Amino acid sequence: MTKREFLRFCGTSFCTLSAISLFGLPESVRAQRPTKGLVKTKLSPYFTPLDGGEIRCELCPRRCRVPRGKRGFCRVRENRDGKYYSLVYGNPCAIHLDPIEKKPFFHVLPSTTSFSLATAGCNFQCKFCQNWEISQASPEDVYSHDVPPDLVVRKAKEMGARSVAYTYVEPTIFYEYMLDIGSLVKKAGLLNVCHSNGFINPEPLRNLCKVMDAANIDLKGFTEQFYRELCDGELNPVLETLKTLKKEKVHLEITNLMIPTKNDDMPVLKEMCLWLKKELGPDTPIHFSRFYPLYKLKSLPPTPVSTLERARAVALSAGLEYVYIGNVPGHEGENTFCPKCKKMIIQRSGYMVGEVHVKGGKCAFCGKPISGIWP
Ligand code: SF4
Repeated sequence: MTKREFLRFCGTSFCTLSAISLFGLPESVRAQRPTKGLVKTKLSPYFTPLDGGEIRCELCPRRCRVPRGKRGFCRVRENRDGKYYSLVYGNPCAIHLDPIEKKPFFHVLPSTTSFSLATAGCNFQCKFCQNWEISQASPEDVYSHDVPPDLVVRKAKEMGARSVAYTYVEPTIFYEYMLDIGSLVKKAGLLNVCHSNGFINPEPLRNLCKVMDAANIDLKGFTEQFYRELCDGELNPVLETLKTLKKEKVHLEITNLMIPTKNDDMPVLKEMCLWLKKELGPDTPIHFSRFYPLYKLKSLPPTPVSTLERARAVALSAGLEYVYIGNVPGHEGENTFCPKCKKMIIQRSGYMVGEVHVKGGKCAFCGKPISGIWP
């Protein structure tokens, strides 16, 4: 396929996929009126009762201590009479059929669609959040649907999705819903994939790994200061999550949103890439994604493309084999190159996929195994 043919193909396919996204809501769900304030509860398996009816949530490293009648930091878990409940079980506020490349996964069943969902809430408060309208909301603040786990799986199959994605906000906060969907997804022969901030405790994570096939983890920066000041989070638990996912053989990709003046220091970036290579392996794909000003960081400019290109060069020289540039449609850094023979083996533009030269999980030109989940 010539470059011109590919770009024409991308234009046509993009229109098609946009339409799928617009009409992506399952018909039986679309027939419902989204309800504001829908709250469906499920008892959390991860909390410790404390004195006086207080509880400690054990789901994420924040370990909120929550008095009777109150909620944790993520807004979607409540202490009711000394027991801790999820308030978002089965009521997603976002449902779309997305290209898997949008998650982003570049090494998982290219060119397929993923049935993607989220509820309200998050256990971080990133100043640069793209989805803050739902991530920083309580269940009562958003319009959501009544979609039990079996309906998610049925509709995902009917719509031809090859995977179900837990995404848009931090999926840990709708853990019980994700886990129940995940078990049914496995039985149905689809994949479970998630895009996560990695801020989850080891025990629930290991349990989740039993059903999760692939995870894209945001490594938002590589200093505690960045996590503290821009996310109200911590770096170290995220690094532990990455090591656990690797150990549990979940396919891993990393996303680093590069924010001008905040996390674009090249020596720190090099340190991060060397850590990734040592702890996760050189074949772990990483996506350097372009920042656009929004939410609480509107005063910053978009990331210069030259910064993303420098980051890519640093990561490649540190020994990472699959280094991508995101949010710059048409950039050469969207394509996959074989680390051995250097030929382009997957051609992309935005979320569109052109030629694929991966056969049986190997480079079709030289036979090198390519990390990922392939058809
Ligand atoms: S999941 Fe929510 S309630 Fe539980 S510790 Fe994390 S932020 Fe707190």
